[in-house]
Amino acid sequence: MKDLEQSLQQRRARHLYRQRRINDGPQGPVLHMDGHELLNFCSNDYLGLANHPEVVAAFKQAADHYGVGSGAAHLVNGHSRAHHALEEELAAFCGRERALLFSTGYMANLGTVQALMGRGDSVFEDRLNHASLLDAGLHSGARFHRYPHRDLSRLATQLGEARGDKLILSDGVFSMDGDLAPLTQLAELSQAHNAWLMVDDAHGFGVLGEGGRGSLAHFDLGADAVPVYMATLGKGMGTFGAFVAGSEALVETLINEARSYIFTTALPPALAEASRASLRLVQSEAWRREHLSALIRRFRQGAQALGLRLLDSPTAIQPIVVGEADRALQFSEALGQQGMLISAIRPPTVPQGTARLRVTLSAAHSEAQVDRLLEVLAQLAPRFAGEGA
Ligand code: PMP
Repeated sequence: MKDLEQSLQQRRARHLYRQRRINDGPQGPVLHMDGHELLNFCSNDYLGLANHPEVVAAFKQAADHYGVGSGAAHLVNGHSRAHHALEEELAAFCGRERALLFSTGYMANLGTVQALMGRGDSVFEDRLNHASLLDAGLHSGARFHRYPHRDLSRLATQLGEARGDKLILSDGVFSMDGDLAPLTQLAELSQAHNAWLMVDDAHGFGVLGEGGRGSLAHFDLGADAVPVYMATLGKGMGTFGAFVAGSEALVETLINEARSYIFTTALPPALAEASRASLRLVQSEAWRREHLSALIRRFRQGAQALGLRLLDSPTAIQPIVVGEADRALQFSEALGQQGMLISAIRPPTVPQGTARLRVTLSAAHSEAQVDRLLEVLAQLAPRFAGEGA
C-alpha cells in the first residue's frame, strides 16, 4: 500500500502542499480569514454579485417556497419550475434553442463529452484547458490529443490524421493565464475538418462580449460556429452550478445520456432562483463590466510600470509569473502579511517553472483598492519578482 505520510512529506518538500484557509464571511473585496482582514484579489466573483442583496433575497424567498433540498435527480422529481425557468432564460440569453443545468461545471464537462464521444472517436484539447475539460476528454474513452497552447497548425495536423467523430474542446478564457482562445480560427478549423467545437466559457460568461454574453459574443460567433457552449454560474454570475446551451437535439441527448446529469441530485431550486436574479443584474447593470475593464487597465499599467511579468490577458485574470513554486509561495505569504490575499498557483495546475500569483479583479473593487495592491507590489517586487521573473 502507498505510504500516504511519505508522499505528503515529499509534496511539502517540493513546495506543492495545498492547504485551505477559513473564510468567515461573504465574498467581497475585503475578507476575514483566519482572524485577519485581507483585501481579496483571488476570487472569481468578477462582477461582485455573490453577495448582491437582490441575489440573496431571491435565494431566501425561494428557500421559503421550495425548501432547501431538491430531493432527487432532475429525471426523478428534482426538476423544479425554478430550474426550468432558469434554463429557458439562459437559452434566450445565449441565443440557443435550449440550455441544460448541471450541478457543477466539472460535471457539465464530464457529462457532455462522455455523451458525445466514445471509443473510436477523437478529442482535441488545448494543453492549458481546465482540468475538468481535460478529464472529460480522458474519461470519454475517445482518442485524446493535446495541442500546445493556441497552436492551430498543430491542431490542424492532428485533425487531418484523426478518425471517427471529432470534438475540439477549448476554454474560452484560459483560467490560469487569462488569455482568450482563438475561437474564430478554431471554428473555421472545426468546420473544415467536420469536427464539433465545444467551448467552456466559465471565465467569460457574464463578463465578456456584448451584454456579458461571453466569449462567443466577443468574437461574434453563433451556434453554427460553436454548437456546444458551456458556462458556469459560480464565477461572473456569483452563484453556483453550470449549464450547456445548444440545439434541441443536443440538450435532449444530454438529458438521456450524460451520466453526470442523470445520476446526481439536482441543484437546490433556491440556487436557480438566485441565478435568475443574477442574470437580470448581468443584463441591467452594464456598469459592472465597464468598471471592471477600467480596473483591468489600471492594474496592467501600474504593474507593467513596476516591471512585473504579466501575461497577455485582457480579462479579470491577471497572473504575475514568478517562476519556481517556492518563490510564488513566499511572494503570496509576504503579500498576506501586507493584507493582500492572492493565491500562488503552482504545478501541476500550471506548467513547471511558471508558478505565479493569480491576481483576479472584480467590479466590487474600488480604484483605491487596486492602487493599494500596486503599492504593496512595488514594495515586494524587488524581493520576489526580480531577475528571471
Ligand atoms: N471550467 C473552467 C474553465 C473553470 O475554471 C472551472 C472552475 N474552476 C470549471 C470548469 C469547473 O466549474 P465548477 O466550479 O462549477 O465545477
